[in-house]
Amino acid sequence: MADVFRARQPRIIAVANQKGGVGKTTTAINLGAALVEQGCRVLLVDLDPQGNASTGLGIEADARTYTTYDLLLGDVALTDIILTTDIENLHIIPATVDLSSADLELMSREKRTFLLHDALRQTAIEALDYDYILIDCPPSLNLLTLNAMVAANSVLVPLQSEFFALEGLSQLIATVREVRQSANPELRVEGVVLTMHDSRNNLSHQVEKDARDNLGDMVFRTVIPRNVRVSEAPSYAMPVLDYDPASRGAEAYRDLAKEILARHTAAA
Ligand code: ADP
Ligand code: MG
Repeated sequence: MADVFRARQPRIIAVANQKGGVGKTTTAINLGAALVEQGCRVLLVDLDPQGNASTGLGIEADARTYTTYDLLLGDVALTDIILTTDIENLHIIPATVDLSSADLELMSREKRTFLLHDALRQTAIEALDYDYILIDCPPSLNLLTLNAMVAANSVLVPLQSEFFALEGLSQLIATVREVRQSANPELRVEGVVLTMHDSRNNLSHQVEKDARDNLGDMVFRTVIPRNVRVSEAPSYAMPVLDYDPASRGAEAYRDLAKEILARHTAAA
């Protein structure tokens, strides 16, 4: 499966939504693990100063010698920044709170929205043979998120199945459109994925209906259920796919990976 993608640039997906707590980090970690299960090599870029993706994959604070901050603003070899995880073929560039000052520092750079784009297109990255690079964005439409959108081929939007879920989505889509018109004409919306869906809750069904009515095919068929195993997994420093492979959450992220791979293979 993965061979289809080899000898090409990795596909770069920014996982973004300016709302916090909607499932961005959970999706970045578990979609990453699910793509690996399907035979892909995946790099996760932690672009959130909170560093939750790094913690969730078991990267201790003292192992974060170099971080996304160095990737953007430093002069450190890519190979020194990328860390392996307990999962073979899932690598990470970790983040720490240092990244919160990057936003301001980026401001003074001439190519401030292109730093991640350029960093991820160093020739050194080709030798690492990734199929996918997933970027876990911060909960804001700041310069870091703009860097992710300029660097990415597509934006994947987790949408929490709760009231007001669709609010803010138009601002996010407008930002994608602006980036497309200026810095990255190829940028697409990979899709909107409903997260923390509770099938016993009418509100969840209403949010799903609203999303599908308004956004049509942009919404993934796969819906991620609210599942306690998903929320427990990070404290064991594991994706849910390893923590409880048979859980509904693990199954859902597997389906999401397959849905994405099927689209990309069909498009290739
Ligand atoms: P974000 O990165 O958008 O801020 P997170 O991925 O950190 O959001 O998720 C917010 C919280 O919701 C976390 O505590 C996470 O464990 C929990 N969570 C996310 N997805 C699920 C799910 N499918 N089922 C149960 N809890 C979830
Ligand atoms: Mg997060």
